[in-house]
Amino acid sequence: MKSDRPDQRSAEADVYRRLYKTPQWRALRLSKLSQDPLCQWCLEREIVETATEVHHARPHRGDEGAFWRGPFISTCKACHASRGQREDLGQDVVTFRADGWPA
Ligand SMILES: [Zn+2]
Repeated sequence: MKSDRPDQRSAEADVYRRLYKTPQWRALRLSKLSQDPLCQWCLEREIVETATEVHHARPHRGDEGAFWRGPFISTCKACHASRGQREDLGQDVVTFRADGWPA
C-alpha cells in the first residue's frame, strides 16, 4: 500500500479510495470472486487464470451509486493492471452487459 503518493487525480478518486476500504466493498468483492473465481478477461483468450481483483465493468466516474451497482467482473492482477487502468482512464473502453457480453 502506497498511501503517501501525491497523485490523487481528483476528489472523486479520493471518494473511491475510501469506498474500497469499506467492509461492504470487501464483502461484495469476496462474493463476486467466489461466484466468478476465474479471470474473465483471460477466459476471453481461453486462458484459465484465478481472479484476485474485482473490476467495475462500467467506469463509475464519481457516481457512488454506480460504484455499488456494478456490473463487476473478476480479473487477475495482470489484467486489472493493464486493461483495467486503460478503461478507468477512458481509453479503449469495452463495457459488458449483465450476461457478460460486450454492450
Ligand atoms: Zn487475466
